[in-house]
Amino acid sequence: MLHSSYIEIRKSALQNNIDFIRREIGTEVTFSSVVKGNAYGHGIEQFAPLAQECGVSHFSVFSADEAERLLQSLKQPATIMIMGYLDNPELEWAIRNEIEFFVFELDRLLEASAIARKLGKKAKIHLELETGMNRTGFNKAALEQAQAILEDCKAELTLQGICTHFAGAESMQNHDRVQKQLHAYEQQVQHLRSAGHTPEQLHTACSAAMISYPETRMDMVRVGIMQYGFWPSPETYSQYVSNQPSRKDPLRRLINWKSRIMSLKSVPQGEYIGYGTSFQSPRDMVLAIVPVGYAWGYSRTLSNQGQVLIKGTRAAVVGTVNMNVMMVDVTHIPDVQKDEEVVLLGIQGNESITVASFAELSIQLNYELLTRLPLNIPRYIID
Ligand SMILES: *Cc1c(COP(=O)(O)O)cnc(C)c1O
Repeated sequence: MLHSSYIEIRKSALQNNIDFIRREIGTEVTFSSVVKGNAYGHGIEQFAPLAQECGVSHFSVFSADEAERLLQSLKQPATIMIMGYLDNPELEWAIRNEIEFFVFELDRLLEASAIARKLGKKAKIHLELETGMNRTGFNKAALEQAQAILEDCKAELTLQGICTHFAGAESMQNHDRVQKQLHAYEQQVQHLRSAGHTPEQLHTACSAAMISYPETRMDMVRVGIMQYGFWPSPETYSQYVSNQPSRKDPLRRLINWKSRIMSLKSVPQGEYIGYGTSFQSPRDMVLAIVPVGYAWGYSRTLSNQGQVLIKGTRAAVVGTVNMNVMMVDVTHIPDVQKDEEVVLLGIQGNESITVASFAELSIQLNYELLTRLPLNIPRYIID
């Protein structure tokens, strides 16, 4: 094995999750697969063609560089939508490649129409509205000016969508704020419509909104975390399953992160292990040295906390997580050999290390932990 760890992506799990999302939203609503953050750590190049095989034909990314990687890895034509960063120089590239994009500033709207005119090609834009998140989006005053530009540039701009993003649909704590946002969105859409601006698609929902606020689904949902088999929050999960007769999690995780035992070591009782004195062997121990550390996204906060699976048994990280290695206590596991598979995340035998448990220990959200898995860990597709 060339690399000290690798990631497996399970296709059957993705198909399961996509089927579930489709059942939830029905046939009239478009499913946009959100693949920003390197497809939430799963790898754009590996994930996107797989998603296409599972029936996905609409993708959302954050930035132009992600759109380019996506475009190069797709096996069939698909719609690509940039939700965030796109500098004016990249606008021309985007329009030429028929990539759709959010517009939340007048400057970009004007530039897009100028470039579209130059190229003799229409730009497909999604007007993002400020409804209360206070991140990106046109506020009311700017929206008036945007409307005027839209009217002047009808020949260059197609109003593909009107959209917004909710500020925390995964927590009921934000319920009133989400409702306010939805109300503001509907009012502004109504206002735009009455002025003759009719978009092809209204879209507002991320994973959590899709589950907890079905009225936000509209014409399209932008789903990230759930297609990878994770819930946006424990709250969204319990809200969903408590309404289901089976009470079972309908999602399956795609990801397994694995390594191998690099070396084994016997340590007598009373020795300190690794750097410093954070762990002293309470008895004679056998340690497995695993070639993964914080440089590979295995957080240092998992020192003396993390668990891995070896031979289908849990084994504890002892001492501090180093840059490239960590030590794991395998004293209780018989017949452990060098080169034995180590599961850092995912399933082995009847046991699993969930991102949730892992993330809680390392004080990271699912989202953060996944997207921090380094780009250069190889990703392999399995059935
Ligand atoms: C990330 C993102 C989404 C998807 O969010 P999930 O919680 O992963 O489903 C949807 N819309 C926008 C604008 C986003 O930035």
